[in-house]
Amino acid sequence: MSPNHGVLSPDEQTAFLQSVENVQQAAVSYLGAHPAEHSVVTFVRSLHQAVDRVVDTAVDRGTHLDCKAGCSHCCSARVEAIAPEIFLIAGALVQRSTLKLAEIVGRLQAHLTASDQEALPWAQRKSCPFLEDHLCSIYPVRPATCRKGHSTDAGACAAHAPVIPQHLDLILDAEALIGGTSGAYRQRGLDGSAHELVRAVLLALLDPTAQARWFNGEQVFEAVAPEPQGR
Ligand code: SF4
Repeated sequence: MSPNHGVLSPDEQTAFLQSVENVQQAAVSYLGAHPAEHSVVTFVRSLHQAVDRVVDTAVDRGTHLDCKAGCSHCCSARVEAIAPEIFLIAGALVQRSTLKLAEIVGRLQAHLTASDQEALPWAQRKSCPFLEDHLCSIYPVRPATCRKGHSTDAGACAAHAPVIPQHLDLILDAEALIGGTSGAYRQRGLDGSAHELVRAVLLALLDPTAQARWFNGEQVFEAVAPEPQGR
C-alpha cells in the first residue's frame, strides 16, 4: 500500500511515514471514542471524504487530470478495498430491490468464474462488474482505491500502458490516508488489510454474519495475492 520507495528521497519517505502515523493516531482516537459496530464500519466514510478532498484540492490548484465521467478504462484494473469499505458497499447493495440484488450477485459470480481475472494482465481483464454503461453503479460508496485513481493522459489508459502517468503528490496524500486508516483498524484489533473487491463484496453479500465476525476480530476475507505482471 505504500508508494514506490525508489522514487522518494529519504526526507520524503520520512514525511510520508509521519503522515501515515498522524492519520492513524487521529483514526485510533475516533475509533476509541466511537466503539459501536456501526460507527466502526461507517468511519471509513471519512477516509473516502478525505481522499475526495485531496483530489478536489489538487484540481482546484490547477492540477490536470484527464479523467471524466464515462471514461472507464481504469475500471478493468484490479481493485482492492479494506473490510469496512466492503461492508459499506454490501450495505448499500442490500438496500436495492430483491431482483436487482440477485442480478448483482449473479454478475459478481459470473465475473469470478468466467476466468481467473486476478491472474490476467490488465488489458485482458473484464471490466469491474459494478460498471454499468461506463459509469460506476456504486459511485457514492466506491473504495478509496478508485477515488484516488487518476491519469494525466487518458490515451495511456486506453492503450493499457504499463505505467499510467499520475501526480505523485496526490498519490502520496491519498496513500497516507489509506495506510493510516488501515493501520488504525489493525491497532483496534480488526482486519485492516486490503482484499480483492469483487470476491470480498460477494462474500459479504452471501454471508450475513461476515460483518459481525469481522467486528469480533475474525479474518473474514482472503488476503490479496501479489499483483501479477502487466498491472
Ligand atoms: S468500483 Fe466503480 S470506480 Fe471502482 S473499478 Fe468498479 S466500476 Fe470502476
